[in-house]
Amino acid sequence: MKILLGSGGVGTDERKAVYQSLMSENFSDCKKVAFVPYASDNHDGYTEKMRGFSGVGADLVGIHEYDDPVSALDEFDGIYVGGGNTWLLVRELHERGLIEPIREAVLSKGIPYAGVSAGANVACPTMQTTNDMPITMVPSYETLGLVPFQINPHYYPGGVWFREEEGGSFLKHFGETRSRRVSEFHRIRNEPVIGLYEGSYLRHNGGYFELLGNKATLMRKGKEMVTVSPGTLLAGDLTTA
Ligand code: ASP
Repeated sequence: MKILLGSGGVGTDERKAVYQSLMSENFSDCKKVAFVPYASDNHDGYTEKMRGFSGVGADLVGIHEYDDPVSALDEFDGIYVGGGNTWLLVRELHERGLIEPIREAVLSKGIPYAGVSAGANVACPTMQTTNDMPITMVPSYETLGLVPFQINPHYYPGGVWFREEEGGSFLKHFGETRSRRVSEFHRIRNEPVIGLYEGSYLRHNGGYFELLGNKATLMRKGKEMVTVSPGTLLAGDLTTA
């Protein structure tokens, strides 16, 4: 199983280089990679942008270009699911019948998968740890289940402080923290959740998931949360190896 899941936040040259080298390595044995742009509202534009930006050496082709994306999957030896709005993405994956075929391609046929942000959310059992607003209905919250845990992308610890103007003083915003929201998720579901900081990736490696790029916070139901550094190896239940 070859899986790379990232938070996004590729805002500096250094982070961009990490992203591109991990993507290039993930798809190094591939000739033609399917790009899934459904989280965006501009499928052509997003696909075109990622062709130049992603570092994927193989031919990157938008799956939206096919009338029958399920049969088209057979032409590809890699799958990259991009970010945007997770609700849009999940709706399209269900409506186009792609959940089971992608799951099968990755888990049974060993096709390499990469997902960033919304594309990482959908690699989990359910979309219920996304940060996105529910801008559309989805047939089901169920997602690909390529990994047994949940991801909360773009994670940051603590509360938010903001400035109303550049150079002004910081004011506290008393809204909920991410970990508070995850603890609400744990009232109804049991999957462990990893909060991936910006610039963080999980790479499946010899039965473990290796954290790369930046930190992450592990939130397991009923356990103390713990923040881990790049290089940490994690089991599927998010215990450290
Ligand atoms: N909107 C995010 C993305 O960039 C996903 C998320 O925050 O849950 O794809």
